[in-house]
Amino acid sequence: MAVYFDNSATTQVDPQVLAAMLPYFTEKYGNASSLHSFGAEAFTALVKARKQVADLLQAEPREIIFTSGGTESDNLALQGTAFLNKHEKKRIITSVIEHPAVLNTCHYLQSCGFEVIYLPVDEDGFVAEESLKEHINRETALVSIMAASNEIGTIQPLAALAEIAHDAGALFHTDAVQAVGKMPFNLHDSDIDLLSLSGHKLHAPKGIGALFLRDGVQLQPLLYGGGHERGLRSSTENIPGIVGLGQACEISRQHGAEEIAQMTAIRDFLIDTTLDSIEGAYLNGARENRLCNNANFRFDYIDGESLVLYLDMEGIAASTGSACSTGSTGPSHVLRALGLSAVQCRGSLRLSLSRFNVMPEAEYFAAVIPSVVEKVRAMSPLGEKKNAIRS
Ligand code: PLP
Repeated sequence: MAVYFDNSATTQVDPQVLAAMLPYFTEKYGNASSLHSFGAEAFTALVKARKQVADLLQAEPREIIFTSGGTESDNLALQGTAFLNKHEKKRIITSVIEHPAVLNTCHYLQSCGFEVIYLPVDEDGFVAEESLKEHINRETALVSIMAASNEIGTIQPLAALAEIAHDAGALFHTDAVQAVGKMPFNLHDSDIDLLSLSGHKLHAPKGIGALFLRDGVQLQPLLYGGGHERGLRSSTENIPGIVGLGQACEISRQHGAEEIAQMTAIRDFLIDTTLDSIEGAYLNGARENRLCNNANFRFDYIDGESLVLYLDMEGIAASTGSACSTGSTGPSHVLRALGLSAVQCRGSLRLSLSRFNVMPEAEYFAAVIPSVVEKVRAMSPLGEKKNAIRS
């Protein structure tokens, strides 16, 4: 059996998404800025996709800017607001558990003279409203807090945090790369000013994303050129990718509710069976306010990387935590922020689901995980430690 439980790293392109995209590589290859009929065809596709993305978020089409993915959307949101306000407001507030696309942009902004505050999280990964209130001031240009964690699935209290930002005259951005398609958004009725999303986390291809930018909110562009995307993101539009993202959003809008219910049931089964069947297994992150597709465990006396490799031999693709940064070997900054020791962080395993996962796959996982954990414990030096403690 081949089971893909690593959908927070990336998802399979939905066959309907691929089918919608294919003509835009072959017969419909026009440039959306051209005056002839090829151009008009591409332009029509761009308009349709912008509406499909906006509809999923309950936003207006003119509030959607297409980008190359989540990283670019985060950079545009953070750098774009910071540099535009650089003379009046120098403070940016974010959290310690953000994705590197936000954290490393913040580090860069610090090197440019901005002041960045990194809010802590509690043991389940939640940012406290009180802590934002304590640090926000009239010098704050932007508050950027992720909608849901790519590692532990914690869903932040966005409405409350965004309201605090607005009360202090700051803008509110959320990295919703893991959240779009996994929970509903109604941006019409929200204080969120900017929201990042990425196609490849929601069954569109890699290399396409979008930034929601509320009407009236200004940004300084990252890219200068031909003035595409209202001058905020120059470069000839990636029409096949944009069509794919639009189609993915349309599918999610139509079927999101059932898909979320299905993923929640599978997630809960995975959590319950794993915690019940394995001694020294714990859940990282909260049970409530958790992404419908995320289960993140910690096992005593185990090395997560070995566990991932042994699961792979059983046909199960999972991850130790984040696959979003290249070459990082240290313990996860997210798990460390929960207060876990470096050794505890080593024993973590993330399972992340999509609409294509079915219950028999979770049953298969539940059947194999006890023996895989036992095998890895028996082999690892951490396992020897266990025997030493027990004897
Ligand atoms: N933000 C979060 C929360 C993510 O999980 C990812 C995934 O890698 C990104 C940003 C980056 O998105 P992309 O790979 O589209 O640049």
